[in-house]
Amino acid sequence: MDEPEYVRLVKDTEICKKCKNIVVGRGNLNAGIMFIGEAPGKNEDEQGLPFVGAAGKNLDKLLEKVGLTINDVYIANILKCRPPENRNPTNDEIKAHTPWLIEQIKEIKPKVICSLGNYATKFFFADGKVDEMEKMPGITQVHGRRKLMEFHGLKIKLIPLFHPAAIIYNRKLIDSWEKDMEIVKSEILQKRLF
Ligand code: URA
Repeated sequence: MDEPEYVRLVKDTEICKKCKNIVVGRGNLNAGIMFIGEAPGKNEDEQGLPFVGAAGKNLDKLLEKVGLTINDVYIANILKCRPPENRNPTNDEIKAHTPWLIEQIKEIKPKVICSLGNYATKFFFADGKVDEMEKMPGITQVHGRRKLMEFHGLKIKLIPLFHPAAIIYNRKLIDSWEKDMEIVKSEILQKRLF
């Protein structure tokens, strides 16, 4: 069978030619809630799974505090491949890699999307228009604020959260994350997402 266009787009990028694995996602396809990060790091690239390194361990710990595990959610990234030295994603890379993410969102049909950090948050605020992302508010301004939106025909509630890698050693941000996660939890309970 021919490869889907969204897979070919990813494979055609330089970062894909240099990475060890394409990191698609992991977790529960029926959970109704997706967490979306930025890009795979070194450990993710080696194992082919998102959030398995230091940021992932922190995410596990943070989810545990509100009674969740990674298996209660589905988790993916804006980029499917690790950028060299974990540099920031470029607009061209985001344009080439997000059609696959959009395909995943359409398949999973989450009611809630938690965007982790600036890149994922700006992507949704810009309604997927990558060239407009830089004009969008940053995570410090919008974390924990629910935003109802229509994304590719799906009604979703976006809840931006700080990126788990950013809060590892920052007590203040951990406190914010915990408050924000109470909002996520109330959405999950309200909507019976499990
Ligand atoms: N950071 C991310 O944004 N995604 C991962 O998969 C790992 C670290």
